[in-house]
Amino acid sequence: MIQLPLWRQVPLPAASVATATRLPAMPVFVIGRPNRCPDCLSEAFIVGRVTAECAGCGLPLAIVRSRRLS
Ligand SMILES: [Zn+2]
Repeated sequence: MIQLPLWRQVPLPAASVATATRLPAMPVFVIGRPNRCPDCLSEAFIVGRVTAECAGCGLPLAIVRSRRLS
C-alpha cells in the first residue's frame, strides 16, 4: 500500500486558496501608457507620488515607470 506524504493528505485552507486565485496579479499604473482600472474599467486616474487612484471606484494602483521612458 502506498503511503502519501503528509502534506498531500492535509487539505489547504480554503481562504488562502481563494486569495491566491482571486488576486492573479498586482494592478499597476504604467506612466506613459493608457491605463484602465481592472475593477470598473475607468480610464481616469488621480496620479499621486506612489499610487494612482482610480477616479471611478478609488482603487489604488502601484505606479510603475515604463522602461522606455528615460
Ligand atoms: Zn476603478
